[in-house]
Amino acid sequence: MKKEPYWNKNKNLWICPNHIATPYMSRYQHTCMYSSCSSTKPQDEDKQPRIIPKKKKDTVQEKDTCTWFKCENKRKENSIYCSIDCKNKNARHNYRIRQKKKKNNL
Ligand SMILES: [Zn+2]
Ligand SMILES: [Zn+2]
Repeated sequence: MKKEPYWNKNKNLWICPNHIATPYMSRYQHTCMYSSCSSTKPQDEDKQPRIIPKKKKDTVQEKDTCTWFKCENKRKENSIYCSIDCKNKNARHNYRIRQKKKKNNL
């Protein structure tokens, strides 16, 4: 049975294992040095794997501090406030502004 040719360790020579005196062929040689042999150069394995550049995440510049303007703490994840306290302060503040506006309108 015919054996498949393979590359040596350095991938600069390929080997045809079908002969007693194993011939080493250069990568530029496409067929076995024995004219009676039909072996051809094995597939080039040393193709460099394509380096895919890491995609930078399109991070939307978000404010990472508490929405309550008097507070400079970092906001909690999934929240625009650092704490319920600030949320309440902000709510009260907005409420007061709304009340003022109402008064002014009257
Ligand atoms: Zn051969
Ligand atoms: Zn806060």
